[in-house]
Amino acid sequence: MMILVTGGSGLVGTAIRRIIDESSAIFVSSAEYDLTKMEDTKRMFETYRPTRVIHLAACVGGLFKNMNHKVKMLEDNLAINFNVVKCCHDYGVEKLIACLSTCIFPDKTTYPIDETMLHNGPPHSSNDAYAYAKRMLQIHCKTYRDAHGDNFVCIIPTNVYGIHDNYSLVDGHVIPALIHQCYSAKKNGTKFIVKGTGAPLRQFIYSDDLARLIVWTMENYNEGLLILSTPGRDEVSIGTIARIIADNFDYSEQIEFDTSYSDGQYSKTANNQRLMDNIKHFEFTDINEGIKTTIAWFIANFENIRK
Ligand code: NAP
Ligand code: GDP
Repeated sequence: MMILVTGGSGLVGTAIRRIIDESSAIFVSSAEYDLTKMEDTKRMFETYRPTRVIHLAACVGGLFKNMNHKVKMLEDNLAINFNVVKCCHDYGVEKLIACLSTCIFPDKTTYPIDETMLHNGPPHSSNDAYAYAKRMLQIHCKTYRDAHGDNFVCIIPTNVYGIHDNYSLVDGHVIPALIHQCYSAKKNGTKFIVKGTGAPLRQFIYSDDLARLIVWTMENYNEGLLILSTPGRDEVSIGTIARIIADNFDYSEQIEFDTSYSDGQYSKTANNQRLMDNIKHFEFTDINEGIKTTIAWFIANFENIRK
């Protein structure tokens, strides 16, 4: 068995690398293969002839990257996903795990969202380009499954955080961006400013937990779609996340909310019932512990991290 992991240098890919037997897996990044190009994608499949593929590679970012780079979010992700899924079929891959996200669900919906509701209306306007590219990834996988019986499974994680994230103040997701923001505020004696009102709710999953769930899915789950998330009751507000981060940096002053910035989607509460019905039991990392570990890693590796 040869497992190929695309996006192997990213937040989720490096977490999988920490738990998988490296002698049976290959982790690739854009430095070796630009998967927006079909010739690179074919070269990768010719080289490794994988039997299983975990497809994580994507043009990824937080709310503000999604709002400010819509053409790239649409075109890169459409191209990467088209090339990888087509090659998985053409090169006879036995199982593909392809990665979606809960942020691609309809904006106007009922909560909690589940696997049946993905296409029931347009996504939130802030990330529609990324969302439609990801929805097409699901359609592409389903089409091969229906037409040829290919075992192509789409996983749907909620917001992920952890070590090896992108800590960019501009393009990063909220947890890594706020860790960087608070670190700078503490170091320079400036204010810790959080974008938006702080009211929106998010269901965060620690990257190491997600990695374990992805490996479990690869070994145990063979249906079309599966949400990978903590229970919906674990949802927390952006304001609470900011406070947890501030406390870890001993930042005792008041946090400022800059409401000139967008809040994005208010909430996207996901139902993890299908996951729990199948896996039966799973210990999720407490958000306070996960953030503490992430901050310790961020400080220790500050000079060399993505930021
Ligand atoms: P990440 O840290 O930004 O990593 C992205 C990975 O994709 C990197 O390995 C990157 O390679 C690779 N990549 C980007 N463009 C590429 C290209 N043109 N050709 C080849 N490789 C390319 O992202 P992540 O958070 O780990 O995301 C992994 C997956 O989870 C994605 O499919 C994402 O949509 C999904 N997801 C993420 C979240 C989240 O909150 N982070 C939530 C739900 C779903 P380089 O290092 O060489 O750039
Ligand atoms: P989303 O869950 O896909 O919307 O992605 P994010 O991880 O980017 O979270 C966005 C939420 O965090 C929104 O409510 C933002 O207003 C809020 N937020 C606060 N400060 C920041 C920041 O510095 N960066 C990002 N990306 N979001 C922030």
